[in-house]
Amino acid sequence: MKKILLLILFIPFLVYPQVGNQPIIDMHLHDYSEKSYYTAPAHDGVMSPKDYQTYRVELLKALKKCNVVKAVVSTIGGENKLDDDGILIPGYYASAPPKDTTAFKVLIESGKLKVFGEIGAIYDGYTLSDPEFEPFLRICEQYDIPVAVHTGGSVEDITYRCCPDFRIKLGDPYTIENVLAKFPKLRIYMMHAGEAFYEHALRLMLQYSQLYTDLGVILWVHEFALDCAEQFLRKAKKYGLLDRVMFGSDQMVWPHAIEKSINQLNSYDFLTQEDKKKIFYDNAVTFLKLKN
Ligand SMILES: [Zn+2]
Repeated sequence: MKKILLLILFIPFLVYPQVGNQPIIDMHLHDYSEKSYYTAPAHDGVMSPKDYQTYRVELLKALKKCNVVKAVVSTIGGENKLDDDGILIPGYYASAPPKDTTAFKVLIESGKLKVFGEIGAIYDGYTLSDPEFEPFLRICEQYDIPVAVHTGGSVEDITYRCCPDFRIKLGDPYTIENVLAKFPKLRIYMMHAGEAFYEHALRLMLQYSQLYTDLGVILWVHEFALDCAEQFLRKAKKYGLLDRVMFGSDQMVWPHAIEKSINQLNSYDFLTQEDKKKIFYDNAVTFLKLKN
């Protein structure tokens, strides 16, 4: 009887690998400045850390606990602050095209910009195909800097809160097709796997062999996003696209979302351990050209 009880207790541990064992690359993190940091409850009711200092400590703690060995971070409202362990890869948050190509090149040459993104063009009424982005994409192609673009929707009532030009349709992955056509050598990934437009994300990946995606936000934020993630992953597996799908949390001001996203991906029994390893780590190593 005891043996049966022990077996029942341990079955979940046998089925799902635990957080911390698998090295992980998180392709989608955010940081803030003292000024831009905010607190709010996530959809699951968990409140964000009480102030920026606490947030920063909790974020780095969560990365280590989950064995996140590299993470692309873009700071909203300030400059990137890197970590002592070299986990954070500096991104560049932009909701509109940058203005100065010289300053942009300086950031790249000084190692302060290693990924151009998150580009949240949708928030200011742009798409990545708008001509104002073109000189910066050309520089990224020249310097072999990966580009990360927001796809899908956003949080409730964002149009009234900050961003009157926000429209969901601007988050359709098809809006980046002109960029794919013009810059075939550009390394580029979609963020959020298209979310509501996940079928367009899949179609675009079938069409353009260089296009990758991350799973930021859709592995944890709410039921709609979770539905998109599951459908996207089931179909990506069916269509042979899992080699270009990368893990991402998009934890924003909620560091607990990193572990939550990992557990969600681990819970899908239609993915094999090999599939999960690719998504958590191998595909990002290839995309980012990291040494394994
Ligand atoms: Zn994000």
